[in-house]
Amino acid sequence: MSDISGYLYCPRICYFRLKFGGKINEVHAAKEIYTSRRAGFDDEWAKRKFLSLYGEENQEIFEIAAGKFIYSKSLEQLEQLDYGIVLESSRLRLKGKLDELIQLKGVRYPLILSSKAPEEGVWYRDRIKTAAFCMLLKDAGIVDTSSGLIYHCFDGELREVEIGRKDKYTVMRLVERVCKLKKGFIPEGVSDSRCTRCDYRRECSNEPVTFASRFL
Ligand code: SF4
Repeated sequence: MSDISGYLYCPRICYFRLKFGGKINEVHAAKEIYTSRRAGFDDEWAKRKFLSLYGEENQEIFEIAAGKFIYSKSLEQLEQLDYGIVLESSRLRLKGKLDELIQLKGVRYPLILSSKAPEEGVWYRDRIKTAAFCMLLKDAGIVDTSSGLIYHCFDGELREVEIGRKDKYTVMRLVERVCKLKKGFIPEGVSDSRCTRCDYRRECSNEPVTFASRFL
């Protein structure tokens, strides 16, 4: 699932994550804070979990995330059914870890965590991620839904998203594209403001842009 999200942000980031492994960021830390607080534990507990999972060298990342994290009252209405659910479908060639499965007014929804909300709606990458989890949940026989919730940890915004057939089609197209990267294709990058804060800037400037990469 992280491959698909990475691809939507920049196809080259997805390529570098597959090649070198992903880097730890504030959202990883926010996820530990979120799951700990939902279970009634404090941030000290979340920090211990985070550092034992990702290493003591990432302490600063945790502190920054903890400083920005907002636990909204709106979460109290959501009944947690399960969290950190690993879902995998060989049929769909998809796998991912769902942050939370919740129930609201008798209806079950997948909930995913994100950083800050856009002015309106949800980020496209979160919409597609939600679509992928709806597909996985249906495939696993857990719930058949076309809606999900996104909780934005750094501004406390809880938003619902409805997904459609087009979103599911996009998921399948991305699965095919990520498969190509796994075979060694180097995609074209985005070349915009995203590059200025990208961890792979140096590696990216050393990778050639090929004729084939323009069509991936
Ligand atoms: S530097 Fe730009 S093009 Fe290269 S991986 Fe990063 S965001 Fe993508």
